[in-house]
Amino acid sequence: MSNISLPVATLGMPRIGPRRELKFALESYWAGKSSEAQLLEAAAGLRLANWARQRSLGATIIPSNDFSLYDHVLDTSVMVGAIPDVYGWDAGPVSLKTYFTMARGAGDGQDAGLAHADDRHGPAAQEMTKWFDTNYHYMVPEFRKDQTFELSSRKPIEEYEEAKSLGYQTRCVLIGPVTFLKLGKSADPAFNPLLLLDQLLPVYVDVLRELAAQGAEWVQLDEPCLVLDLDESSRGALRRVYAHFAKAVPGLKIMLATYFGSLADNLDTALALPIAGLHVDLVRASDQLNAITEVARSDLVLSLGVIDGRNVWRCNLQELFDRLAPAIAKLGRDRVEIAPSCSLLHIPVDLDLENHLDHDVKNWLAFSVQKIKELTTLGSALAGNQARASRLLAASRRAAGARQRSSKINNPNVTGRLAAIDQTMHCRRSSYATRTELQRARLALPVFPTTTIGSFPQTAYIRSARASHAQGKLSDAQYDQLLKAETARAVRWQEEIGLDVLVHGEFERNDMVQYFGERLSGFAFTKHGWVQSYGSRCVRPPILFGDVSRPNPMTVDCWSYAQSLTKKPVKAMLTGPVTILNWSFVREDILRSEVCLQIALAIQDEVVDLQNAGAKIIQIDEAALREGLPLRKSQWKRYLDWAVNGFRICSSVAADETQIHTHMCYSEFNDIIDAIAEMDADVISIETSRSKMELLDAFRSHKYPNQIGPGVYDIHSPRVPETAEMKNLITLARQQLSDCQLWINPDCGLKTRKWEEVRPALVNMVAAARELRAALIAQR
Ligand code: GLN
Ligand code: ZN
Repeated sequence: MSNISLPVATLGMPRIGPRRELKFALESYWAGKSSEAQLLEAAAGLRLANWARQRSLGATIIPSNDFSLYDHVLDTSVMVGAIPDVYGWDAGPVSLKTYFTMARGAGDGQDAGLAHADDRHGPAAQEMTKWFDTNYHYMVPEFRKDQTFELSSRKPIEEYEEAKSLGYQTRCVLIGPVTFLKLGKSADPAFNPLLLLDQLLPVYVDVLRELAAQGAEWVQLDEPCLVLDLDESSRGALRRVYAHFAKAVPGLKIMLATYFGSLADNLDTALALPIAGLHVDLVRASDQLNAITEVARSDLVLSLGVIDGRNVWRCNLQELFDRLAPAIAKLGRDRVEIAPSCSLLHIPVDLDLENHLDHDVKNWLAFSVQKIKELTTLGSALAGNQARASRLLAASRRAAGARQRSSKINNPNVTGRLAAIDQTMHCRRSSYATRTELQRARLALPVFPTTTIGSFPQTAYIRSARASHAQGKLSDAQYDQLLKAETARAVRWQEEIGLDVLVHGEFERNDMVQYFGERLSGFAFTKHGWVQSYGSRCVRPPILFGDVSRPNPMTVDCWSYAQSLTKKPVKAMLTGPVTILNWSFVREDILRSEVCLQIALAIQDEVVDLQNAGAKIIQIDEAALREGLPLRKSQWKRYLDWAVNGFRICSSVAADETQIHTHMCYSEFNDIIDAIAEMDADVISIETSRSKMELLDAFRSHKYPNQIGPGVYDIHSPRVPETAEMKNLITLARQQLSDCQLWINPDCGLKTRKWEEVRPALVNMVAAARELRAALIAQR
């Protein structure tokens, strides 16, 4: 009796390990400090620990092949032999060296995958981009028109066998072929990778057959593309694939996993597929349960994704139980599994490691381990085993109640300020045309003004000083002194090389979001709450748990000090509300748009203080605005409306003669250019150097009225661009924009670069601006 529970699946576990063991194993191997065998042993240890952890927590459907040494999309490319020629592979098993070259590039151009390495040093890494709307990055598969596929890695089968030999019957996880092809790209942008489906399927069939032969009863095929806007050809591809698998491997049951949203208009397609099970995300789209219950085939197993795999909040299990029980009674227990909404890859491993967190806040949280426990509790309760579960259900309801009422979350001042927002707070006092005249007169900048995006190199010296300060080895005064010295040096140097608008260098900032989070109330920080960003890179997102306010100025001292050293304008640097929101784990008891407003008011306070301290130029970075776009286009407008509104609230308090800048580091603006224009920043700096200014098309064709700094220096590469090269880029920009609109700056902040690269690059950049100015004067 006591073992009765609904089956509990996890879909996938974090791979990095509770203490980032994978990161350290990888980095030691890459540095040549450990052997391939040692790396593989560490990886096997992590897999075993994950299987054991899941079983001991009570999960009953345990995945295999959810592990990856770098990225599961890259694993899939390697599995099917989609390996571009530059990597010099010709058939046979793919070596670890080839695998990591695809991930990170070869030679010293290697920039941990963030950049295309410099061609002079061997092949570049594959391109990297964000996995749906998460902050996990995958390696973009590359296909040729005449692409052929062959089974080139038996990883899924090997890991299935490995688990089995250790006593774990697992459900092997594969990316579904349609999602895989749709995530890829081809050199010819007009080519549709779905045309490769017929060549690809035999490889998948090989894998599925082998899994079945090894004793697999189920496999999990992830097709998150089903929550996107799909055209008929994609839907047709899904039908073709799963009909083919049903015929080719009839004994194997497929659990088709969808996540990150609602199936919506793809629901009929999904339900008509000849699959044995369907996983649906009931956190982002709880309303789809009814429709599915109504129309799903009566023998279709449903995996209900009821615990949030994307966020860190503890669930109110009692409430969830009350909501689910009727549906499960209707469906019948024997065709239901419960699961997180998606793989647990996107949240940290174990809350129990956090000993310093505020006791109440900790009681409101759940990481992977805690979420599996929640599932097993819920599974018992839903299976009618109330005795075991009722105490836990009650505890979880109490925690939810306490959270709701807590003064740590609710700040009446914040609520009051939000209620008092009126129309005047949504826009600057005067139009851009008026403002720009006043700013021109006040700042007296030359044509093609030069500036940078904010940060200067975060050297080992600065990082170790920060670490010493955190450990108490360096006093506040000593640390402050050291930062001041760095700032002074940077200011002096910027003056020397002749930049027009200076920055203080952001030496005091660990991270553009964390720095602000630590100074705002409403945020908590973990010690071990790491989440994989890509490969060995992990991030520790702040946890935004309560009403946000700004107790004290955050940046005024650093800015004032820098400005006191020079007559040239020093641009003050802030991170915008949308970026703070998108790079944090955000509370869900109120709307995201409301949280955005709260942060916007806090940043607004900072703008006021900076302005009162004398700042003439203030930059509000919105690096993450675009990546917050919803997966479905129909929801874009709502998001963009509140996101733009958040930015405007920050900047509305700026006087007409205060110049507001913003910065965005990406290159696709065509589809959001109207929203960008609505932000009404006086100046926007963007990433353009690699795309050769192509993205300026959007700004021109939409007659973008304000000023723009298209990046002329690709800061993702160690390469130092020549003056002539940057002049060429500016010349291209001048074909699209008028001279009075243009600023000259790098693509992004320089914190990841070395001073040896930054110095000559910026000297060349200033020279480029000067030469073009001189030519302009000569023409007149
Ligand atoms: N001001 C920040 C910097 O210069 C901007 C970084 C970013 O956009 N990612 O580092
Ligand atoms: Zn940037």
